[in-house]
Amino acid sequence: MLNNSVLVLNSSFQPLHVCQARRALVLVMGGKAEVLEYYDHLYVRSVAQRFRLPSVVRLMRYISTDRRAINLNRRNILRRDGHRCQYCGTTRLPLTTDHVVPRSMGGEDTWENLVTACVNCNNKKANRTPQRAGMRLLSRPKRPHYFSFIYFYHSQSVKNWRRYLFLE
Ligand SMILES: [Zn+2]
Repeated sequence: MLNNSVLVLNSSFQPLHVCQARRALVLVMGGKAEVLEYYDHLYVRSVAQRFRLPSVVRLMRYISTDRRAINLNRRNILRRDGHRCQYCGTTRLPLTTDHVVPRSMGGEDTWENLVTACVNCNNKKANRTPQRAGMRLLSRPKRPHYFSFIYFYHSQSVKNWRRYLFLE
């Protein structure tokens, strides 16, 4: 039970991250967070007390989110792109990452210049820009927001998290 996931919101109600109930209870007991939602019918017992298990907590103090940058790496590029080739839309493996502007033309390793591509599209595009290769990107690559990842990690997310993740 103490391993159940709890959604942690900033004091501004922005989703910050997900932690285990154990950690969330420590925050709540220490007065560092308040409980916004509970799991239905889930309780934690201590010797003297019984606590309802929180499912969403909100921090009392605002945490700066600048440091919550997501690492730029292959795995996270595939996640951002929903494991879908950004040229043809296939989800068939293997998937690679492609430099939109090729390295040989000065293209950099950035969120804006790296996209998920299937092997076929990667080979077809080769060392060309999409325009030169006559290919179009399905969407413009951007730096992902950290909380778009919360939903990704928890696609089976708890029902009462949904409104805090702006899913309803
Ligand atoms: Zn493709």
